[in-house]
Amino acid sequence: MLTVHEIYLSIQGESTHVGRPCMFVRLTACDLRCRWCDTPYAFTGGRKMAIDDVVAEVLSHQCPLVEITGGERCCSRTCTR
Ligand code: SF4
Repeated sequence: MLTVHEIYLSIQGESTHVGRPCMFVRLTACDLRCRWCDTPYAFTGGRKMAIDDVVAEVLSHQCPLVEITGGERCCSRTCTR
């Protein structure tokens, strides 16, 4: 099971995949408090989902690029709060 805050289709804004359609799976919870955090709304809440249900929802959009983000240490930078 995963605690999922949101699953949505958008445009990738980071990495070498900038500009491509991308499915985002944002997980809930993080006990870090980075100054640059732009998703504090995902620190709490969300809903429990079976991994198979997450995969099914992602696949229903037929988007080949998927990013799983959120949860503790969502970013690749070193979080120092
Ligand atoms: S690790 Fe990610 S979600 Fe957690 S506070 Fe830092 S930027 Fe926000």
